[in-house]
Amino acid sequence: MFAPTWLKALGHRFFGNDPAMALRIRRNVLATQVYVAGVWVAEYALRHWNTDVWQTRGFEISTMLMCTLFYLLIRTGWSERLSDPSLTAVQIVYAQTMAAWAYTIVYPARGALLLLQFMVIYFSLFKLKQRGQLLISCYGLSIMGLAMVTMTHLHPERFPYQTELVHFVILATTLPSVTALGHQLTSMRQKMRRQQAELEGAVQRIQELAHRDELTGLYNRRYMLEMIQQHARLHARNTQPICLALIDLDHFKRINDRYGHHIGDEVLLAFALTARGVLRETDLLARWGGEEFLLLLPGTDVSHAVGGIERFRRHLRQTPITPEAPELRAVFSAGVTALLPSEDVGAAIERADRALYEAKELGRNCTVAR
Ligand code: GH3
Ligand code: MG
Ligand code: MG
Repeated sequence: MFAPTWLKALGHRFFGNDPAMALRIRRNVLATQVYVAGVWVAEYALRHWNTDVWQTRGFEISTMLMCTLFYLLIRTGWSERLSDPSLTAVQIVYAQTMAAWAYTIVYPARGALLLLQFMVIYFSLFKLKQRGQLLISCYGLSIMGLAMVTMTHLHPERFPYQTELVHFVILATTLPSVTALGHQLTSMRQKMRRQQAELEGAVQRIQELAHRDELTGLYNRRYMLEMIQQHARLHARNTQPICLALIDLDHFKRINDRYGHHIGDEVLLAFALTARGVLRETDLLARWGGEEFLLLLPGTDVSHAVGGIERFRRHLRQTPITPEAPELRAVFSAGVTALLPSEDVGAAIERADRALYEAKELGRNCTVAR
């Protein structure tokens, strides 16, 4: 956590800056640790049990060369062009083959090397699907079986068939179980990831619903107040104008009385739909109360705000509401005001409300700016 700067820089050079690449390299380093242990065992066997020197050197050199090659292919980004940039399958097959080779070289300690075949399976859990894991398990068993049969024939004094049989039976019975358990773990991880994504989606939908009015789908009063406060805070710091408009449908009670409440609802819906088509993307519209709406127009001065609202009015009064009442049109009155820098939002809304009242007094179906 408190590593010196030079060590951090070295780490960045070794692992790269891309987190996905760094993870691949970390797994590579884990595998390399095991290879280094394998090289040590081979060297130890050579010294103490006089094992074959050529085979030992061949094993050591090819192991270290391949470790370096895998690292370079990942670190240079070359492997990114492949469907699996971690090179999981190739690395696993290579590791299984090397483990089988080591089994034949360091024969006095070969029982311990059986463990390597299990370890390899765990690396396959990160990337391979069930079929891949099964194939890896079959390959491990086959290559080890082949090594055992070959060595029993070539050097029966070092590889007595009784010992090999026991080793093979252990591998043949435990490798599939380890693979099956690994598969269960992978499925659990996938299920958890799916559930997490679903949960995140649900939370997002709930948040969205909590911000909306049920009937019109417009923002609700609570959320709109938050948004206005947020814009007002930004406004206090920059010079961009902001306008607020209160919009109230004219004689809405008459529409309800004449056509029924459900047609009244259709009018509210048509108002919201038309607004969406006419107003700018950056304008925010909320249902403020029954048939009253609050419009926030960021980056707009009063004359442009009035122009936009008038365009909306013209559009709405030409828009048929429902086939049930083909002659029905909706009109509204609006009061517009500019939010002054550092002004209390409540005061601006009150001013817009007074302008709306004036618009009603003037005979409705018009916009008044204050
Ligand atoms: P004005 O032009 O002065 O605004 O007159 P108005 O009739 O529009 O205003 P008033 O305040 O007298 O009536 C508003 C009506 O809006 C009364 C109420 O029943 C109706 N209303 C409020 N919410 C809804 C709703 O969700 N659906 C329907 N259909 N009507 C609603
Ligand atoms: Mg009204
Ligand atoms: Mg009203």
